[in-house]
Amino acid sequence: MRILVTGGAGFIGSNFVRYTLLHHPDDTLVNYDALTYAGNLESLQDIQQHPHYQFVHGDIRDGQKLSEIVQKHGIEAIVHFAAESHVDRSIHEPAAFVETNVLGTQVLLDVARQSRIQKFVHVSTDEVYGTLGSTGYFTEETPLSPNSPYSASKAGSDLLVRAYHETYGLNVNITRCSNNYGPYQFPEKLIPLMILNALENKPLPVYGTGENVRDWLHVEDHCRAVDLVLRSGVPGRVYNIGGHNERRNIDVVRDILRVLGKPESLIQFVTDRPGHDLRYAIDPTRIEQELGWKPIHTFETGLRETVEWYVTHQEWCERVKSGEYQRFYALQYGGD
Ligand code: NAD
Repeated sequence: MRILVTGGAGFIGSNFVRYTLLHHPDDTLVNYDALTYAGNLESLQDIQQHPHYQFVHGDIRDGQKLSEIVQKHGIEAIVHFAAESHVDRSIHEPAAFVETNVLGTQVLLDVARQSRIQKFVHVSTDEVYGTLGSTGYFTEETPLSPNSPYSASKAGSDLLVRAYHETYGLNVNITRCSNNYGPYQFPEKLIPLMILNALENKPLPVYGTGENVRDWLHVEDHCRAVDLVLRSGVPGRVYNIGGHNERRNIDVVRDILRVLGKPESLIQFVTDRPGHDLRYAIDPTRIEQELGWKPIHTFETGLRETVEWYVTHQEWCERVKSGEYQRFYALQYGGD
């Protein structure tokens, strides 16, 4: 299969590119990415020269360039990861989220439709469902009820993807997954942020009292799920992806400190995020029963390996933390 991956220089996209080249050696991949602050080609350094891989620097809002690339490479399928993806940034600067996540997805859908793409997989998030109380799970039938500008923009893009299936018959799938963790994640997200701060003995900023619950999914398990949906997903269908790994944020932070042998006194509770969803939890029954997906990684080993990865990839961390990241960190948490 000839696949266009958007956002392949980001956290999940780069893991997906690597996963596909390893498991489907006959496939050809074009990674189309604008290289925003979150895009980093160093995450793909080991495969830059792979004969079945090519990088194209481009913005998903640029329909003309996208069309040219799709034609030139005879693209058959699109896996769409590119997005502005950080909730805190969306609270500070919502416009960029609407432009990339909503408008960008619509431009990409038009290119897919006009180019007669055979499959379009849209990678979305469980955050579009809003928040849960202390019980229950999100199913694919849970009404969309986003609470942040980020999740609202993802919900907008999900509805456009759905509409292109209903209106134009485009063969689409939407995947909605829980919080990913693993190698190559930008250090503004919870797990890498805490690991890197702890390594430097800096305070670990935890929102509110750390009671918020997230359902953690190893990025490799996520990539395997997206791959299954790409090849076998029923046209038009939504698939929830989650590992039944619910953890309170404070417990995740304590686990990280334990793995690193650092004291809990580094934890610093900070003012809660506005509109902070209390709990996310996914019911993955559909993808388990229809496509035979099951997560392989347990959170305990996955977290230990992830901590180890950050410890042994300090240079990668230093480079991605420079420049733009410093500006954001100061805006969000004050200081440096
Ligand atoms: P990321 O922020 O690490 O990467 C996003 C990538 O998209 C970057 O490489 C960036 O350069 C690129 N990009 C941004 N704007 C672009 C544009 N206009 N044109 C082309 N490329 C652009 O994100 P991620 O964590 O890898 O998430 C990937 C997808 O998965 C997103 O759609 C996100 O909403 C979804 N998702 C992520 C998580 C998670 O835990 N990380 C959970 C659920 C869903």
